[in-house]
Amino acid sequence: MLRVSQVFGPAVQGEGPAAGRHCLFVRTFGCNLECSWCDTAYTWAVTDHKAAKTRSGVKYDRDDPALGQKLMSAQDVLASLGALWDVERRPTIIVVSGGEPMMQQRELVPLVEQLAGWGAEIHVETAGTIAPWAAFDRHIAQYTVSPKLANSSNPLSKRRKPEVLAAFRETGRAWLKCVIEPDYERDLEEVDDLVQEVGFPPSRVMVMPEGSDSHSTLMTARAMADAALQRGYGLSLRTHVLLWGDDPSR
Ligand code: SF4
Repeated sequence: MLRVSQVFGPAVQGEGPAAGRHCLFVRTFGCNLECSWCDTAYTWAVTDHKAAKTRSGVKYDRDDPALGQKLMSAQDVLASLGALWDVERRPTIIVVSGGEPMMQQRELVPLVEQLAGWGAEIHVETAGTIAPWAAFDRHIAQYTVSPKLANSSNPLSKRRKPEVLAAFRETGRAWLKCVIEPDYERDLEEVDDLVQEVGFPPSRVMVMPEGSDSHSTLMTARAMADAALQRGYGLSLRTHVLLWGDDPSR
């Protein structure tokens, strides 16, 4: 069974190289990292210990009917998607996000296999600490890999896995997307080191401001835009945040 937090859409992909495109989301439950600024902490901050890792300190309810953990088969998820959109007749992008979806790639195979068979484009959003397996990978059209920087407060040994990032690079279907805080110079230098270490082409790197409201998101984006472009990186805004703030159903 899959551990799922949300199935929602139709939505606009707000981040990364597919920003602006029509999609539906399958958000898995559970994560192997603990980012202090995580905007989906409801998928993992369900104990006192984990809640203390977040900036807000909020402890979420694992059994919350809207955002908590649901145990679902691939058929259950397909039915939930089908209630939102006729994926079989009108294929679109299905974004498999989290949490950390790569923790459940074995369980995800039947789901992505069926969706890809219908012509859906499967996009995966991951923090890049778990390498893709062939049985899963063959159905994936795009990975948006978001390695976490020091600003996430995760220890380096947990958040940086060069050999895993290299495996994603080798698929030829991966983009790097790094979250940048207002003190952007320090973060951009860390991205430079990472890109060089892993050998990712700068043209497949995007930087994105951290922020859960349109004002702070745009302020950081404006501040760092020129410095990012000079490095050859793309700039991802957070379209859903600009449109709808931090509404988790958008
Ligand atoms: S890796 Fe993603 S889901 Fe996990 S804690 Fe960090 S931002 Fe949140």
